[in-house]
Order: sequence, then structure tokens, then C-alpha cells
Amino acid sequence: MDDRKFRTAMGKFATGVTVIATEVEGDVHGMTANAFMSVSLDPKLVVVSIGEKAKILNKIKESKIFTVNILAADQQELSMIFAGQLKEHKEVTFDRLDGKPVLAGAVAQIACEVSAEHVEGDHTLFIGKVTDIHLEDAEPLVFYSGKYRSLTEEKAVTV
Ligand code: FAD
Repeated sequence: MDDRKFRTAMGKFATGVTVIATEVEGDVHGMTANAFMSVSLDPKLVVVSIGEKAKILNKIKESKIFTVNILAADQQELSMIFAGQLKEHKEVTFDRLDGKPVLAGAVAQIACEVSAEHVEGDHTLFIGKVTDIHLEDAEPLVFYSGKYRSLTEEKAVTV
């Protein structure tokens, strides 16, 4: 089986889009990620999967905190900024939830403390203990087969 077939198959799992954010010595760093899942209700745990080449990896190891920002349908540009898909640098302002950096307008902001990390292949799974949540009443951004979409209308932007 080649890499392309594996990626194509995984892309058939429709997901939302999140921006994972963390902060080290006052510097906030974000990264777009769709490898996010709820793990446990009691205690409240989530997991994110971060590639070994991602700059945010060592930052989360150091800070021991991260937030998951589930993007709204009108936040595709933020997804592209934090996936390094835009050529020009854009300033992004972060709000705070439980003292941690979060993105205003996200459908859900989830603040976490790292409770465990597991290296699996070329990714690290961070288990996050949820310390606070903020919700907005908005439609989510959707990612399917390498394209951004919304629940109401299809968008034709290929990654
Ligand atoms: P960088 O490449 O340094 O940062 C990414 C971009 O964010 C840069 O352009 C940087 O300028 C910008 N940025 C960072 N912080 C700020 C800030 N404070 N203000 C303004 N801009 C800032 N990778 C995974 O490992 N796991 C996944 O689950 C995953 N899912 C993805 C889902 C989608 C839909 C997409 C499009 C990509 C996904 N990726 C995932 C790939 C990942 O987003 C990119 O590889 C990313 O560029 C790696 O980020 P980095 O930490 O190396 O940071």
C-alpha cells in the first residue's frame, strides 16, 4: 500500500477543522489540525495528534498546555494561516480562556492541560485534561477529501 492510498482513505473521514494553540514565554503558536477526538467523559479528556516535524510539538511538550479551537464555517482563512497555506504573514489576535490562548469566533474553545503524551510512529498523541470550555452558536468548518466544505454549501478550495 502506498502513502497516497492511505492518505486518500483517511481523507474519506469527514472532520471539523481545529487550530491547536499553545504558549511558551508569552509567544503564542498555532497549528491547524483535524486529528482531534474526544477520549473520556470522566475525567474529561481529548486527544490531538501532532506530526514530528511540526514546530508546535516541542512547544506543547514545554508548556504542558494547549487549546483546541473548533473553527466556524467563516474561519477558513484562519485554518489556512495556521496550516502555512498563505504566503503573506497575517497577525492573529488571541483571546484567553482559563489563561490559555484561544481564537474568538470558534464554534468551541477547549482549554487543556497535557495529562499524557505517546509517540506513535511519526506523530505524538497528546492527551489533554479539559480545564474549561467556551461555546458559540455557529456552523462548523468541514474538511473532506482534501477540501474545505460547510454543512450548508460546498466550497471548492483544494489544499
Ligand atoms: P508553523 O509552520 O511554524 O506554523 C504554521 C503557520 O501558522 C505558519 O504559517 C505560522 O506563521 C502560523 N502561525 C503560528 N503561530 C502564529 C501566530 N501566533 N500568529 C499568526 N500566525 C501564526 N498536522 C498535524 O501534525 N496534525 C494534524 O492533525 C493536522 N491536521 C491538518 C488538517 C488540515 C485541514 C490541514 C490543512 C493541515 C493539517 N496538518 C496537521 C498540517 C499542519 O497544519 C501543517 O503542517 C503546519 O504548517 C505545521 O505547523 P508548525 O507547528 O510546524 O508551525
